[in-house]
Amino acid sequence: MKKIPSIQVDFHVHSNVSDGHFAPEGVLELALRASIRILAITDHDAIEGFDRARARLLEKADSALAPLRLVPGVELSTSLEGEEVHILAYFAEAVPPELRAFVADAERARLERIEEGVRNLNRLGVRLTVADVARHSPGRSIGRSHLARALIETGSAYTVSDAFERFLSTKRGLVPPSRNGAEEVTALVRKWGGLAVLAHPPLASVDRICRRLGPLGLEGLEVYGKRRRGVDQLYLETLADELALVRTAGSDWHGHGKTPNLEGVSLAVERIRPFLERLE
Ligand code: AMP
Ligand code: FE
Ligand code: FE
Ligand code: ZN
Repeated sequence: MKKIPSIQVDFHVHSNVSDGHFAPEGVLELALRASIRILAITDHDAIEGFDRARARLLEKADSALAPLRLVPGVELSTSLEGEEVHILAYFAEAVPPELRAFVADAERARLERIEEGVRNLNRLGVRLTVADVARHSPGRSIGRSHLARALIETGSAYTVSDAFERFLSTKRGLVPPSRNGAEEVTALVRKWGGLAVLAHPPLASVDRICRRLGPLGLEGLEVYGKRRRGVDQLYLETLADELALVRTAGSDWHGHGKTPNLEGVSLAVERIRPFLERLE
């Protein structure tokens, strides 16, 4: 049987510029160790992780980091009819200045929603300050993961998932959702020459979300990743093909937990060929 060439990639990882554990430079080292060939650091509403990783790659152009290709990317938090929708945006070369301005606004809005979340928690009797949260956020992009850690530290939650379940999930309504609409963001990414991809598609609503965002410029679906196997993966592959969306691969690695190693996604290169071609 002919061997199908496979490739190790990861188009969706986080650094500590948002809610990942490792600094962007550390993420690069870990990607190299995992033999990842193409990487996108896609922090929540933040570009600095990509910028710093690119600077490190340029510094070390002749070194062991050389085989790694870094794709400019970002994960934008949006809402669609009350549902949280994360849109990954990728760019062939540079990050457009309009996106930098957008992300600067989003950064401020993220702080405001955490401030409001803290006020709402205080009203419930949870003793916590914004400074307690900020201590867990070394980067520009503060969020609910940092709030979860602060809740643990101040004794109001046992674990991060406990904090999300009891206080931070969208349906609890204590931390307001992103004010950026999924439709507007998709159209903007398209206008800026980027490729908009639906991140970690929720199986229950992926069909509806894609049909809504497709006409506005959604071009891809994150089909391959950690928790998508078997029939779920087949469903996403089929849906992507039906709606003419390119398939992408991303682990949504944050580097927390007992096994922090970045692994990436290993797959036959053919499966993501249209995506790679679109990035050329
Ligand atoms: P935010 O950017 O503030 O809206 O927070 C979203 C981030 O919180 C996601 O990208 C995840 O990293 C994290 N998150 C969301 N839900 C959970 C959960 N149930 N358990 C742990 N982390 C979560
Ligand atoms: Fe996250
Ligand atoms: Fe996400
Ligand atoms: Zn993510």
